[in-house]
Amino acid sequence: MANLPFPIKEVQFVADEVLNLNGHYKKLGIHEEIDTETFVTIVEEASKFLHEHAGPLNRNADEQGCHHTKDTVTTPDGFKKLYKDYCEAGWASLDGDPEYGGQGLSYWLQLILGELNTFYCPGWSNYPGLTHGVRELLEKFGSDEQKTMFLPELTTGEWSGTMCLTEPHCGTDLGLVNTSAKPSEDGSYQITGTKIFITSGEHDLCDNIIHLVLARLPEAPKGTKGISLFIVPKFLINEDHSLGNKNTLGAASIEHKMGLNGSATCVMNFDDAKGFLIGEANQGLRLMFTMMNGARLNTGIQGLAATQASYLSALEYANERLQMRAATGPLYPDKAADPIIVHPDVRRMLLTQKSFAEGNRAMAYFVGQQIEVIKHSQDAATVEKAETLLAFLTPIIKAFLTEVALEATNYGIQIFGGHGYIREHGQEQWARDAKIFTLYEGTTGIQALDLVGRKLIQTQKGQIGPMADIIQEFIDNSSSTLAKQLQAYLNLWKETTDMIAQSATKDPNNIGAASVDYLMMSGYVILAFFQAQLHNAAKEGKGQLGVDFYQGKIKSAEFYFAKILPRCHSLQAVIASGAAPLMDMQPAEF
Ligand SMILES: Cc1cc2nc3c(=O)[nH]c(=O)nc-3n(C[C@H](O)[C@H](O)[C@H](O)COP(=O)(O)OP(=O)(O)OC[C@H]3O[C@@H](n4cnc5c(N)ncnc54)[C@H](O)[C@@H]3O)c2cc1C
Repeated sequence: MANLPFPIKEVQFVADEVLNLNGHYKKLGIHEEIDTETFVTIVEEASKFLHEHAGPLNRNADEQGCHHTKDTVTTPDGFKKLYKDYCEAGWASLDGDPEYGGQGLSYWLQLILGELNTFYCPGWSNYPGLTHGVRELLEKFGSDEQKTMFLPELTTGEWSGTMCLTEPHCGTDLGLVNTSAKPSEDGSYQITGTKIFITSGEHDLCDNIIHLVLARLPEAPKGTKGISLFIVPKFLINEDHSLGNKNTLGAASIEHKMGLNGSATCVMNFDDAKGFLIGEANQGLRLMFTMMNGARLNTGIQGLAATQASYLSALEYANERLQMRAATGPLYPDKAADPIIVHPDVRRMLLTQKSFAEGNRAMAYFVGQQIEVIKHSQDAATVEKAETLLAFLTPIIKAFLTEVALEATNYGIQIFGGHGYIREHGQEQWARDAKIFTLYEGTTGIQALDLVGRKLIQTQKGQIGPMADIIQEFIDNSSSTLAKQLQAYLNLWKETTDMIAQSATKDPNNIGAASVDYLMMSGYVILAFFQAQLHNAAKEGKGQLGVDFYQGKIKSAEFYFAKILPRCHSLQAVIASGAAPLMDMQPAEF
């Protein structure tokens, strides 16, 4: 199985020539020391490190998986050393707060690090990924005492982190959480309950694991308003940060999964485990969901990484595999047959992968920029606009990037023919690994309900506005043919939004019936906007990345507009058919 290097040029193009990295940081007055060259050099170094240390572990991680023993969970061979080297090289602390030992580098770089981790070894990527999420939550909501106690080691990666939300009877509906938290006399809490599917819940990579656990205090209101958030460390911590007694918690077992086998997914038992309340009582879900924007963007980026990796491997194969002749006659007469890349259908699949990866990267980095604006801008109106954009785009990034990753990785298998179904080439692993990205951090169905139910209907369509305005402004200022076509799709998208808003007043089921199709349509239109920008940028290309690179971008965007974007018409027709074809079926008729 190939361990192909990540294409750094793709990052450089988007950061420098599409999203104006230097201008973005200048406007915010941050990271001015990081010009594009430095930014790209850091990405190159991260890629080199992971290519050498993580990529070679990927295949074995999938095959060997994790194993549960009485006291711990062992991770695949090599992960322990990788984790140590990763932390020692400073990758764990890249964007951490310098007050706690972090390097204070940019969030955007951290996002790309997540992309690289998944690109080289998806089963490994969640160990640093979740720790980053826990650290961010504590940086934002932890008390000073909690920050001092937990952040230094979480920042350097000496300790790792988890998010414990799901229970056997509740995943989507967290209002049903019944893990309990009993106050103790010393101000801490005793946490009791079972959490399932906990990523990195137990492992052998580092000395301590800091769990963030949703639990319910005695007499707490029922439902989502009665849930609080607790820090529950595997080992209690002494004042001098040395490890104290083992807390009364542990992994009862691990799950045996379809993919992402290197990632330990644990059933965790908490048995009067000592925990510490974060923020105020009954505010747990709000705190957790505040952090979800980042976590969902990271999951979308995992989908992007899978798309990119599957494409590069399929491209290499399509250039080597000789089968049949081109329809127009032999193109390589000296060879036994032509390489399969000459066939239109193989090109259809490759270009679908390529155009998804390119456009989605720009979309994801744009969303990352909004998070940076929210964190650092001093201008209230700018922050408010970025918050609206982020709220609107988060479910799209999470669900669209991961759903199209399934299509892309499926094509990866198809391009390899029967060889794609064979483990040796790694394509089937991408398809298996990518499936989870559409499930955890909220399923596609739930992202779509969030988009349509909360972001459109409850706000009277308010949240589509800023994104639609940005697209309109781009169209108004662009003379390209793609911009003209984009106008028609922007109009179609707006019409469809109005149609759903109106139909929701007639039958609430029309929201759920339309939601996933509408989310996908939104994704296709927004991706078209980014493809049109890539197209413009490539036409004006600075030349630094080579003629073929820019031509590739131009043609990829034109392919996307001709062959993928028209899917919006059929989505609109499906949405227009409403809920009746789904809801008319009576239970006995299924
Ligand atoms: C490998 C793996 C790792 C995970 N890591 C973690 C972790 O670290 N921490 C953690 O807390 N959890 C984790 N999870 C749990 C994950 O977040 C949940 O599985 C996910 O949120 C879905 O919950 P569920 O499995 O209970 O499905 P359910 O909530 O039972 O949903 C089943 C189906 O019903 C649909 N559905 C439910 N309600 C509605 C509705 N109102 N409208 C339309 N459709 C609906 C869903 O979309 C889904 O298709 C992980 C899961 C896996 C498999």
